[in-house]
Order: sequence, then C-alpha cells, then structure tokens
Amino acid sequence: MGCRSSQWLQEAVSFAEEMGMNSLFFEKETKDTHAIVTAENDSSETGVKDAHSTATTGAQEASSFDKAAAEDTSFLEATEAEPAFLKREITLMATGDNLMHMGVVNAGIQADGSYDYSFLFEGISDFLEVADIKITNQEIILGGNELGFSGYPKFNAPTELGDAIAEAGYNVVLHASNHAADREVSGLLNCVSFWENHPEVLMVGIHKEPAESHDIPLLTIDDITFAILNYTYGPNLEVIPESVRGHLDMLCDWDRNTGYMDYTTINPQVLSDIEAAEEVADVVIVCPHWGTEYTPVPSSYQETFAEQMTQAGADLFIGTHPHVVQPVEWIESENGNRALCYYSLGNYVSTQKQGLCMLEAMAWVTFRATEDGVVISEEKTGAIPMVCHYKSGPVRAENVYLLENYTQEQADVHGIRAYGGVNLTLNDLQTWSEEILGQWVLTSDAVLEAEGEQ
Ligand SMILES: [Zn+2]
Repeated sequence: MGCRSSQWLQEAVSFAEEMGMNSLFFEKETKDTHAIVTAENDSSETGVKDAHSTATTGAQEASSFDKAAAEDTSFLEATEAEPAFLKREITLMATGDNLMHMGVVNAGIQADGSYDYSFLFEGISDFLEVADIKITNQEIILGGNELGFSGYPKFNAPTELGDAIAEAGYNVVLHASNHAADREVSGLLNCVSFWENHPEVLMVGIHKEPAESHDIPLLTIDDITFAILNYTYGPNLEVIPESVRGHLDMLCDWDRNTGYMDYTTINPQVLSDIEAAEEVADVVIVCPHWGTEYTPVPSSYQETFAEQMTQAGADLFIGTHPHVVQPVEWIESENGNRALCYYSLGNYVSTQKQGLCMLEAMAWVTFRATEDGVVISEEKTGAIPMVCHYKSGPVRAENVYLLENYTQEQADVHGIRAYGGVNLTLNDLQTWSEEILGQWVLTSDAVLEAEGEQ
C-alpha cells in the first residue's frame, strides 16, 4: 500500500528542497527516538546502508504492509540528505454500535420536546478532538422522524442522533448493518438523504442508487488516502428482497436469482472492491458487520473472511455487530499480506441486559507515513476499554465512561442490576477487558499525551 505514498513523499521532499527546507515533516524527537535507533542497528541485517536506515525503520518497527515498496530503493537519492526522523503520523479512532434502544432514544428528549444526543459523546470528546479519522457504527437506520421511533426488533432512530454524531466530530459513519433495512428501503433511502445534509461526514455502506458495485469511498488526510469499505453479513432476513439489493453493501454472498443468503461464502464483490481500493488508496480499511452475537471470540467464518480480505489487500479491519468485544490480532494471508483486525468493538450505546455487553472498546490506530509507505505503528495502536452506563426506573442511557475511570460505586448503581438482574462489578469489567484485549489495552494517557507531543 506504500507506492502512492512513496510518490507523494518524493514530491514533498523535492518541494522542500526547492524551498530550502530540510524537510516538510521534520518531527519531534521524543520517545520514538529510542525505537528508531534500535531499528537502525537492526537494519544492517537487511543490507540497507546506515545512511538510509530510516527507510527500513518504519517497516521494522511498525510492521510494513508493503514489501514491494520496502524493496523499492528509488527514494534513497531523494532522501539522501534528509534527517533521520522523516515521518509523520495519522491517527484513527473507532467506536462500536450505536444500538438505539428506546431507553437511549428517550434519554435524548429535552424539556421542550426536542431531541439532543450530544451527551452520548461527551465521555470521549478528548479523543474525537485529536484523532484524524473518526469512525462510528450507526447500527440503526435514521429512517426519518416521520416514521416514528422504535427499538427492537425493527428499529428507527431520530435524525438528531446523526446531527450529534457530526457535531461530535466523527467524519465517517458506517451504515451497513443487519438493521439497515428495518424500515424497508424507504427508511434506508431517507437515511442516505439525511447524510447529504452533512457532507463533512463520509457515509458508507448504503446507497441511493442500486448497483452491485459503487465508487470506492475515500477519505484523504494530509495527502494520504484511506479507502473505507463497509459491509454487513446480511439484513435480518433469510432472503434479501429485490428492493434492497444494491442499496446495502453485503459481506456474505446470496443467490442472485432467489435472493437466499449464503452465510458461508464471502460476496466476491467485497474482494474485487478491496482490489480496486488498493489501486486508488494508500490504506484499505474494511469495516465488516459480522460475527456471532454475545460471543467474545471470532467465529470461523470471521477468521476465514478476514484471511480472504487480507489476501485481497485489506490493511485494517474494524469489526462490529456481536454486541461484545472480540480480540484484536494480526492476520497474515498466504501471499504475505498483513492486516490488523479488530474483530468486534462491542456496542457504543445500548440498554442491553448482559453484563458483557457493557464492556466496549475504542479502536485507536496510529499510521505512520514513511519512505516505505504507510504502516501501522504498534506502539500507539490498541484498544481503550470503555463502559456503557445506563440508569433504571425508567431505563435511560446515561453516558459512556473509560474503564480506567469507572468505579465500583458507579457499577453499584448501573441500571443493568434492576433491568437485567445482573450483579455487574468493576472487577468483572476489568477481567473481561484483560481476557479479551490483553496486550492491546491502551490507556488514555498513552494516546492523548502522545498526541499532545506532536
Ligand atoms: Zn448488528
């Protein structure tokens, strides 16, 4: 995925030289310095001369995706006189399902009868402020307020939630979910129209015009182009209605004649989209809505599909749907491609009744633009555990908290005790976080302080 970036970097370096600058992107020397020096020492093994060692640094330290770019030494001349820390970072954050049960919908009703959902994102505003790419999974269609609001099983949520998402600073909203067609195709189309009012937000996964393939959605940050693809395993139907086909991006295949879903086979369109995305983007992000609900381990079809999509060229997976957090891991495909996979972030907001559903994850990914292309820097990549908190009597969403700040006193008054009959404890949440996310857990300080240094 590095070729376009290498080109971009060469152009930037030429420009900098013309302008008499050492580098356009000469960054701070902070704690990264140590890692780079270490990698320089290692670089002797690759046969790359010391003078060029930063070219391999990014690849070694941050797990390069692009072996071809790493072998391309054409940039060496251009960077011969460049300083050893030529790089910069782009950060991505993603949160899970906005599962708009009526206890969440009703929590947004104001004294004057209007709706306001900005409170839902207050707990993570520091992260939304500093990240470059900010993704939310809008599980529930914003089908038009005139249809009325409803929770399970056929949901419809107020468009004011979309306004709050945009206002909070999210710049990507995922809409390919099993609930996208809950209010038939008319609700889906209303939702597409709604997002036209927010051109600052890239809406993906559903479409106004029916077609097997659509343009690859792209987000460009500082000249680095990210493709963001979003698919759902299916709508909540065994047969995908003709009216919905082509409006909703499908992860699983279906019989083109009968519409019967085939949940064991990946939709070939997904793989050709990924291949097309690789041609036009530096980084290919795939957001699959998949997996088995309430199961904190990936299913075999998630693993198989992840391998197939990695083989096709995906670099990062942001998974949603199971309502619980699933692990983060590197996927390596047979052709040597590598992708980081967040199998499931869990919910972001809900009033579900299972304790495990109250634990959720914010994905935090740091990309580094180096001479080798764009790579994921493991150092500042992981998951920040959070807790969905609601009240009971009546059931109302309250807020989302970072697990690191959550207290037993808060757990003692969580609405899930009365509503779900669950004796939720802080220790449960911490144990689940450790068991599922393990070494990938990040603290807010690690993320926000790192950002502050830039
Ligand atoms: Zn779902």
